[in-house]
Amino acid sequence: MLDRIIGPRRKRQFHRLLHNGKITILCLVLTIVVLRGNLGAGKFGTPEQDFKEIRETFYQYRGKRAEPRRVLEELQTTTEQTTVSSTNNYAEFDINKLFVDEEDDVKKNPNEPYSIGPKISDWDEQRGEWLKQNPNFPNFVNDNKPRVLLVTGSSPKPCENPVGDHYLLKSIKNKIDYCRIHGIEIFYNMALLDAEMAGFWAKLPLIRKLLLSHPEIEFLWWMDSDAMFTDMAFEVPWERYKDRNLVMHGWNEMVYDQKNWIGLNTGSFLLRNCQWSLDLIDVWAPMGPKGKIRDEAGKLLTRELKDRPVFEADDQSAMVWILASQKDRWANKVYLENHYYLHGYWGILVDRYEEMIASYHPGLGDHRWPLVTHFVGCKPCGKFGDYPVERCLKQMDRAFNFGDNQILQMYGFTHKSLASRRVKRTRNDSSNPLEVKDELGLLHPAYKAVKVSSSS
Ligand code: UDP
Ligand code: MN
Repeated sequence: MLDRIIGPRRKRQFHRLLHNGKITILCLVLTIVVLRGNLGAGKFGTPEQDFKEIRETFYQYRGKRAEPRRVLEELQTTTEQTTVSSTNNYAEFDINKLFVDEEDDVKKNPNEPYSIGPKISDWDEQRGEWLKQNPNFPNFVNDNKPRVLLVTGSSPKPCENPVGDHYLLKSIKNKIDYCRIHGIEIFYNMALLDAEMAGFWAKLPLIRKLLLSHPEIEFLWWMDSDAMFTDMAFEVPWERYKDRNLVMHGWNEMVYDQKNWIGLNTGSFLLRNCQWSLDLIDVWAPMGPKGKIRDEAGKLLTRELKDRPVFEADDQSAMVWILASQKDRWANKVYLENHYYLHGYWGILVDRYEEMIASYHPGLGDHRWPLVTHFVGCKPCGKFGDYPVERCLKQMDRAFNFGDNQILQMYGFTHKSLASRRVKRTRNDSSNPLEVKDELGLLHPAYKAVKVSSSS
């Protein structure tokens, strides 16, 4: 039929044209497929967006690409190579993919005795000399106010359940708030400085290192990550400890007479920067190295201490054991505090917060308004705790909000309830903001004020 209309020659020309056209279309399709492969689905999948991206790609191929981007991409191709997951979904991403060098360190010779560091016997002289040479770093910020460093920390690994990391965040926010108000410095540690001293023993090498590196610090305040400040207004009675080197929450009779393993608590304590403290750490650390030493020491502690369950040696039991068995050596420099909650066991406090709000006010620090609520045994970052997870998490939220209300109050807000993350206003904003009354006096507390020495 085509023959009849256009003639055989024209027909051949037409077929050739058709054939060339097919090749051209095929090439075009292939080009688009390749470009689409390089570009992904396009940001919004719209033809307009695709067109923009194709145009940009052409510009790149025409040598107009900016240099910094090329450098970046080169870096990516060398480090990520071929196994990189391309998911954009954080909820699905397996975090373990990121950890590459997490095998245990090479084991030390087990016959070598443990040492926490080179023996130091003249720290008071060394430190005293340093303080004399560095008058701009005084160890007292005011007459009775020592320079204090609050030290806390957690494992280098993410928590078993991400909610544990959320509570670590709440807990450090809570400590930052207290320390800002009280003019205390803060150190958060996430490095295991000594592989043998993992877990509750990790604080010992850390504390020693910080004391020696910061001679300007007079008192180091260790605080567990599972402890929170619930009284933002309470100031530690520093004057009371002027002749003491270690302050722990506890009771003399329970420690020295009964040798009860819960006669004191090592979740929140004050340690003076001096030779005495280094000596104490030297005596305290040897039960810590994990493995046989810690297991055997655990047996001794369970045998010698009152009511201690069977488990490996822990820093708290070891401290009770040292104080009880070497009372003469240590007791006169130790203050076992129970006038206020330097550490407060959460089980006896958290259900009473409403009662405290109804009857008392912050600043008391004791059973009426505890300075610290410590979630002993909850282990929010671990796999298993000693208490039901739901109760622990619910009560940690309540403790956080209870403390946080004192912070929010300064700015005219409060949590809707102790169970609520949400906040409401407690007053309207004023056009004279500096006249607003700060009831607890926490915006400019007297104990934070620094004495300015007269220049004349
Ligand atoms: N800790 C640490 N690194 C670790 C594990 C624990 O710094 O790898 C700290 C953390 O601050 C924790 C404290 O050691 O709060 C003591 O452990 P935990 O509070 O779980 O003991 P509990 O108070 O329940 O006896
Ligand atoms: Mn704890």
